[in-house]
Amino acid sequence: MAHVVIIGGGFAGVWSAAGAALARGEADLRITLIAPNDHLVLRPRLYEPEPDLAKVELRRILKPIGVEHLRATVSTIDTARRVVVADGEEIGYDRLVLAAGSKLFPPDGLPGAERLFDIDTLDGARRLTEHLRGREDYSAVVVGAGFVGLEAATALADRGRVLLVDRSRVLAAPLGPGPRKEIEAALDQLGIEYRLGTTVTEVGDGYAVLSDGARVEADAVVWSVGMRAGELTRQISDELDHLGRVPVDQHLRALPEVFVAGDAAAAAFDAEHTVMQACQHATPLGKVAGYNAAADLLGVPPRDFTPGPYVTCLDLGGAGGLFTRGWDRRVMASGADGAVIKKGINQAIHPPVDDASEILAAAGRVYIELPFFPRDEETAAPAA
Ligand SMILES: Cc1cc2nc3c(=O)[nH]c(=O)nc-3n(C[C@H](O)[C@H](O)[C@H](O)COP(=O)(O)OP(=O)(O)OC[C@H]3O[C@@H](n4cnc5c(N)ncnc54)[C@H](O)[C@@H]3O)c2cc1C
Repeated sequence: MAHVVIIGGGFAGVWSAAGAALARGEADLRITLIAPNDHLVLRPRLYEPEPDLAKVELRRILKPIGVEHLRATVSTIDTARRVVVADGEEIGYDRLVLAAGSKLFPPDGLPGAERLFDIDTLDGARRLTEHLRGREDYSAVVVGAGFVGLEAATALADRGRVLLVDRSRVLAAPLGPGPRKEIEAALDQLGIEYRLGTTVTEVGDGYAVLSDGARVEADAVVWSVGMRAGELTRQISDELDHLGRVPVDQHLRALPEVFVAGDAAAAAFDAEHTVMQACQHATPLGKVAGYNAAADLLGVPPRDFTPGPYVTCLDLGGAGGLFTRGWDRRVMASGADGAVIKKGINQAIHPPVDDASEILAAAGRVYIELPFFPRDEETAAPAA
């Protein structure tokens, strides 16, 4: 029987599995997802106070749709022989979906790097939570004022003093100027100090040294910058982008028998942009890549990857949420309104479980624009 193998059990891998199962219908096709974890980790929620709540059992998604789960880590992809090596065992495939995601690459040679915390993985977020549990007035340094760093800093400000540092000379550079005023206001409201053009050069027991020479108190230093695709992408292509991602066509194909999805894929969003390393894109990428991998074997027409409008939503802790639309990140909602939207998103990213028809129906909806997203026309000034 033909075999679709999916590497990765994150959003892209899980939705690839569901996409492949949808294309399979009643046909004979074996689908196997290989990932070391028993849970889909909802990484966008790892800044929350109880990160263990941010996970869904893979079994409850894969079993109902007839997808096997092999708990293993892939070390080698041999595209010439069409096999992957997982925990030392060779597994043959007819079509492969690489959905092994991204991870933080720790800074090279930073003294005290072993003391750094992160919220990149469930284990990382647990470690930070346990380290600070029960402390009322800790001091934390967060490195990086991008999407993850801002959420980490604003969440930590709930019970402690937070210093946010970033190498860039402008605040929240990765988000562009659109939401900068609102972000500045949120940091001020929460009493978060930020130092720009600055990074951490040493981490010690209870302190951090900054690149301007200052030594600051730090019960925890949280590193948030340097997320890149995992190393397996190098076994698929020599032409990776600056985030280590594999270039793919509009069907998310990288090689004749290999598709790539999620944070590992440099798919075109439009003529100007590639997709973001974001769950918002990993989910539809997975649905399309998995569908196309199976469709290719079954002689079914492929789907194009057609993402919906780009939006962003940040949780800014006690300052609420921030929802933006478009690549210029126009602010559509902030404060309490933004927080309601973020809460809705954090629920909506949970895949359906235990019910094959719901899971497969969701796999068929490649992009969903949620009804509670404010639209341009709703915030536009009334005509004179
Ligand atoms: C704190 C935080 C906040 C975020 N907030 C948002 C947000 O608000 N909105 C948003 O859209 N996105 C957000 N993101 C980004 C989002 O979480 C990622 O883009 C998304 O998780 C990518 O999904 P993925 O399936 O491609 O990869 P991952 O989630 O990285 O999953 C990869 C999977 O592959 C497995 N794997 C890795 N290597 C191997 C191997 N060699 N063999 C087998 N399996 C392997 C892993 O175990 C995992 O199961 C956030 C991320 C973080 C860390």
